[in-house]
Parts: sequence; structure tokens; C-alpha cells
Amino acid sequence: MKFSELGLSQDILDAITTHGYVEATPIQEKTIPLTLSGRDVIGQAQTGTGKTAAFGLPILEHIDLENKNIQALIVSPTRELAIQTADELKKLGHDKHVDVQVVFGGADIRRQIQNLKSHPQILVGTPGRLLDHINRKTVKIEHVKTLVLDEADEMLNMGFLEDIESIIKNTPADRQTLLFSATMPPAIKRIGVKFMTNPEHVQIEAKELTTDLVDQYFVRMRENEKFDTMTRIFDVQAPKLAIVFGRTKRRVEELARGLEARGYHAAGLHGDLTQQMRSRVLAQFKSHEINILVATDVAARGLDVKDVSHVYNFDIPQDPESYVHRIGRTGRAGAEGVSVTFVSPNEMDYLRAVEDLTKKRMTALEPASLQDARVGKIKNATGEVNKIVNAVNVNEIQSEVDKLTSQYSSEQLAAALLSSVADLEKQNTPVEITRERPLPRRRGGSGGSSRNGGGRGGDRRRGGNGGGGYRGNRERRSNGGDSRNNGGQRREAREGGASNGERRFSDYKRRDGRSTERHSNNGGAPRQRREFTVREKD
Ligand code: ADP
Ligand code: MG
Repeated sequence: MKFSELGLSQDILDAITTHGYVEATPIQEKTIPLTLSGRDVIGQAQTGTGKTAAFGLPILEHIDLENKNIQALIVSPTRELAIQTADELKKLGHDKHVDVQVVFGGADIRRQIQNLKSHPQILVGTPGRLLDHINRKTVKIEHVKTLVLDEADEMLNMGFLEDIESIIKNTPADRQTLLFSATMPPAIKRIGVKFMTNPEHVQIEAKELTTDLVDQYFVRMRENEKFDTMTRIFDVQAPKLAIVFGRTKRRVEELARGLEARGYHAAGLHGDLTQQMRSRVLAQFKSHEINILVATDVAARGLDVKDVSHVYNFDIPQDPESYVHRIGRTGRAGAEGVSVTFVSPNEMDYLRAVEDLTKKRMTALEPASLQDARVGKIKNATGEVNKIVNAVNVNEIQSEVDKLTSQYSSEQLAAALLSSVADLEKQNTPVEITRERPLPRRRGGSGGSSRNGGGRGGDRRRGGNGGGGYRGNRERRSNGGDSRNNGGQRREAREGGASNGERRFSDYKRRDGRSTERHSNNGGAPRQRREFTVREKD
């Protein structure tokens, strides 16, 4: 549908055109008119479907430039998402001269305070840092007209519920509240009931996803062959920009190091990195300085990087919904993508569960031979060779050049140059990837495949939420730079959270032993617990 049919004013429509959007996405089409009318809205749609503009455009529409108060507050789970959202709003609000500011943890608070003095009409922030500012009275939100809880499921997973409640309590009761989320676990519905007024629930079914644009493959091979299999496929497919998903932080570290050792431009992204490191890695990826980003689900969630051509699931996710999120990293905004999932024979039930959810069959891909990989790598070197040839100054080395040209044919020299640039030696660098505990046998295979995506997603998520809490603590600890600087009550809460995590960890060890036992008995520990044990290692 055209944006012009949604009730937006000409100013905003012009900004949309400048921004390059032609048609509204389904979530935009369905929520924008409701939001413009002042209703509270719960919007559920997959990542990458344009939720930012869905809430951003009506907000921009309603901004009163004469009013010096913060009129819209957007709460966002991570620094990266907050920045991304603020950037999008800045672009869309540029012509209208709307001032958008962003605050997040792990960055100098004094500078943020300085920036806030410009009296932004829109503020985007992460929960912890927003509360810091609210407590310091450097952010006043008592005149907020619209409050947005963005990526709400992720915020709950990260343990931000209390912070969010505290923030909400500082906003006026007659505000408009918008909540956007990729999934709708019961905890989010409860927020809807508690903090929203008669919200309209808009859900875009997963089948409207863009996965049609992604060619989905799987490769079946033994666990210990995964790394070699993957790098050979890299050499054949020559991904321009790829994300590799690993199940745990250790995995991500090892994969990133292993890939570097084999000569790829790769780096890892996970929750244990400092914010600074995370930003650096992301910036390198966005500028194509590295073209392979290795990440955990949590770290990559919601990130909008343009032109990701390939997604590689080094580990198949335990939760089929995660697969959909991962694949959503490519095939964005009409571009085509490729995904390859590596599965060991005992994980085939997980593959089927994914296919049940996406209602698409993945195509089996033959592992590439070493020969294919060598040829691929040499072909990929052509671009680099062109650069070298164009940059070289023959005169400087005339006599050596003459010697070689009298000795070898140009064909031989060209082939040698290609092989050298391709650095085929590196292809064989031995890389050890530590074995992770295999996924538990999936009970009942693809059973329970009621295909009503939303409800089912909710239930599944609930299983993961136990782990999410712990994971949240970990993330928060890494975010914790800011709270530690600022001391006070929240610091206690956070450190309390972390030790809570530790307690669960020892719990996990115990469970681990037990579940192995059960596994050998083939009894199967309760699914929820298993999911928990795997997730918490992330
Ligand atoms: P979500 O929050 O649902 O994950 P985003 O708001 O981050 O998705 O949008 C994903 C990408 O799609 C962004 O690059 C955004 O600029 C782009 N986008 C959003 N709306 C449109 C549209 N109507 N047409 C084309 N691209 C769009
Ligand atoms: Mg979003």
C-alpha cells in the first residue's frame, strides 16, 4: 500500500520519499492509521519488517516544534538498536527539523547531559541509562505524549522489566503507549494489560515474511567436520557480507579466531564484549572491513545491517523461532539472500521443526570438495589481482620482470599470481573447535506443530525465558559499566542479578550431570530445562 493512503501529512510523505521508501510494509500499513488516531497499539511482526518507521512516522507527524518538552520516548533494549532507531528517526524527521537524541549505557553520561540541553522532542534510550537520567533529573518525561516499548520481547529477555516499569511510572497517565515486538510471550501481554489503555493488537503473520527471497540450504555432516565444510562453502559461495551464528559465546570466539587463521576477514560479536568492542566490530562489518560476522543470537538480534548476502547457521538453533530471526538478517528490503544450516544427523528433527514453522523445505547442499574450494578461492582472488596489477610499477623491477617473462609463460605467471593471492596454504590451517554438548533429542520430532505461529511462538519463548533471565544478567553485567559508575540502588539490583545468575549456573552444572544421565536412559529431561541449560551458556 502507498504511504499516501495512511493519513500522513505531505511533509512526512516527502521525507519518506527522500528516504527511498515506496510502499508501506504490512505492519506499517496496519498500525500507522491506528497510531495516528491516538490509539494504544501492540504491533507484532518479524524483525526487519519496518517497525521503526511504523511507530516513528506517526510520532514525527505529531511532534509540536514549539513544545520544548520530550514528547516521545522510545525505550530500546541495546545501545546498537537505540542508535539505529535514533538514526532512522533523525533521517525521517530531518526536513521537519525534529531534534532526536539518544542515551545508552557504557558511554560518557556528561556528554549525554550536554546533548540533552538542546531540548529534543524525541528521546531514544536503553532502560538503565534512561533511569539514570531520570533520577538525575537530566531527563524529564512527565510531558511525554507517546511512549514506545520497542523490541519488547528482547527487553524482557534481558531482564529489564523492572526498569521499564519504573520508567513508565514517570510518564503521564494519559500518554499513548505503543509496544512493538517480534514475539508475544505472556509476559508481554501482561504489560499490555497493565500499562496500556484498550490496546489494538496488530499481528503480521510469519508467513508474510520475506523468506521467499532467501534460498535456504542445509548441509548434513558430522559435528567434527562442520568447520572445514563451512570454510569450503565460503570459498565456493564467496559471500559478500555474511553472518555466522554460533550457539555459545565460546563457539563464537573460536569460530572467529579459526576463520581469521584461515585468512578470512572475520570477527565475533557476543554479550561478553565491552560496548566499545561491540560497536567497533559492528562498524567494521557495516563498512565491509570485515565481511564475516560471527555472532550469538542475542548479539545479532534486531540489528539492521544492509546487504547481508549470506547467513550461515554453524549451529542449528534449538528454538525454531530463532531460525526465523537469524534468516531475517538477509533477504531484507527486497534483496536476495542465501542461508546455509549445518546439521549433524542427530539434529535432523530440529531441522524439520524449523521447516514446520517456516512451511518451507530447505534444499540439501552437497559439501564442497577441497578441489571446488581451491578453485573457488582462486576465482575470488581475481578482484584482488586486478588491484595489484593496476598498482604495480614495472620500471622499478624491470630486470626481475624480464627474467621471469623469459623463463615462464604469461599463463603460468598469472596462475601463480592468483594462487599466491588466494593464499591457498591458509585453507589448510588446522583449527580446533571445541565440541559443544549436542542438542537434546527433540521429543516427538516435529510434534506439536500447531501452525498458529503467534501462540506457539509465545509458548516457546516462555521455555526460553528462564534462561533469558540469566542471559539477561550476563548482558546487563556487560552493560554494567554505566551503573557501576553511577552507583546507587540499581547497582545493587544489578549485582544481585548477577549473583542470581551464578546461583543458577551451579544449578546448571548439577542439572547438566543429571540430564546426561537421563539422556543415556533416553528418558529425556523436561524440555524446558534443557532449553534453559543451553541458552544460559550463550
Ligand atoms: P524491525 O524494527 O521490524 O526489525 P526496521 O525498522 O529496523 O525493522 O527496518 C528494517 C529495514 O527496512 C530498515 O533498513 C528500514 O530502513 C527498511 N524499511 C522500513 N520500512 C521500509 C519500507 N516501507 N520500504 C522499504 N524499506 C523499509
Ligand atoms: Mg526494530
